[in-house]
Amino acid sequence: MDREKHFTVMLKKIFKKIGLSFEGLESNTQMWEHYCPMENDIIGTEKGQPCNWCDATEISNKNKER
Ligand SMILES: [Zn+2]
Repeated sequence: MDREKHFTVMLKKIFKKIGLSFEGLESNTQMWEHYCPMENDIIGTEKGQPCNWCDATEISNKNKER
C-alpha cells in the first residue's frame, strides 16, 4: 500500500468517527459497511462506491455473505 493510499485510509477513519455526529446534517449520504480484509477493520463506504482498498462493492459484499 503506497503512502498516499494509507493517508486516505487514516482520513477515512477520522471522517468515520467525526461523521457520526454529523450524520443527518449531511444530505442523504448513505454508507454501506463491510469487513475489509485489507484494513482488518469495518470500513464505511459511500453507497454506490466500491471499497478503495479491496474493491468490494455493496452488491458483491452481500453476495459473499450468502
Ligand atoms: Zn474493503
